[in-house]
Amino acid sequence: MIVKLINYTPKPIETAFTAARTCYSAEGPASIWSRAKGDSEPAITRDRMHSLLDRVIASGHMSVLEHINFTFSIEGCSRACSHQLVRHRIASYSQQSQRYVKLKERNFVIPPTIRGNDEARAIFEKFLDSAKFAYEKLIELGIPKEDARFVLPNATMTNLVMTMNFRELYTVCQVRLCTRAQWEIRELFIKVKAEIKKVPELSGLADYLQPKCIILGYCPEEKSCGLMPSKSEVIGEGK
Ligand SMILES: Cc1cc2nc3c(=O)[nH]c(=O)nc-3n(C[C@H](O)[C@H](O)[C@H](O)COP(=O)(O)OP(=O)(O)OC[C@H]3O[C@@H](n4cnc5c(N)ncnc54)[C@H](O)[C@@H]3O)c2cc1C
Repeated sequence: MIVKLINYTPKPIETAFTAARTCYSAEGPASIWSRAKGDSEPAITRDRMHSLLDRVIASGHMSVLEHINFTFSIEGCSRACSHQLVRHRIASYSQQSQRYVKLKERNFVIPPTIRGNDEARAIFEKFLDSAKFAYEKLIELGIPKEDARFVLPNATMTNLVMTMNFRELYTVCQVRLCTRAQWEIRELFIKVKAEIKKVPELSGLADYLQPKCIILGYCPEEKSCGLMPSKSEVIGEGK
């Protein structure tokens, strides 16, 4: 799977800072924005902007994060993964259509547990060959792609463009970066975070994207990976 950050709100920290500061200041947002960008004096330092963002996030004043948008291209994830992804409703998705685009040769994701087991892999590949054969034959018989696709498995690869604001990304990463999340969607959000971290003006934002245990200070999962203490160890039984 290849994930690329293809666009984002310019000057994202300055934008979210301007939104947050506007709530607590008599100064107008245009003036705050100008000082945040360093276009007028006194300029606002990056440390001050991050400090306010830290405080609004800690206090749950999350709507200011909605002013920052990210657009990602996602190529070669499985339909099993994309189905989980699009359950996150506060985002925009454009996905390659199986009605209009014919499946290419061997465009399937093979899970690592199957890839690493010779017998399982042989069974899986035999099944993929037979699904692909049925798909091709149905199309040859004049069945439209939108109906022939019914024989394609969850392993079928897909491409999407996803635009998600930072508030939703913060929420989604809490569940999808957890080691208990399903491996492929976890890989997707590990790559999403890495893409944000790669851009110098965004790297401070990537640090806010964490699994829920890091934010809560305990693990609320029934089966913990052990990285953090359990909820009962931290806040007591039955709470
Ligand atoms: C480990 C794991 C296992 C899962 N297993 C299953 C499963 O077996 N079956 C299944 O069907 N799904 C499953 N899901 C999907 C899950 O139920 C959610 O649909 C998915 O994670 C999307 O997250 P969300 O609904 O919190 O919010 P999003 O759509 O990402 O929205 C973000 C936040 O906005 C708020 N919000 C959004 N829409 C509403 C609304 N209509 N009303 C009130 N608040 C709203 C909520 O606070 C929400 O957390 C699983 C998810 C995870 C992480």
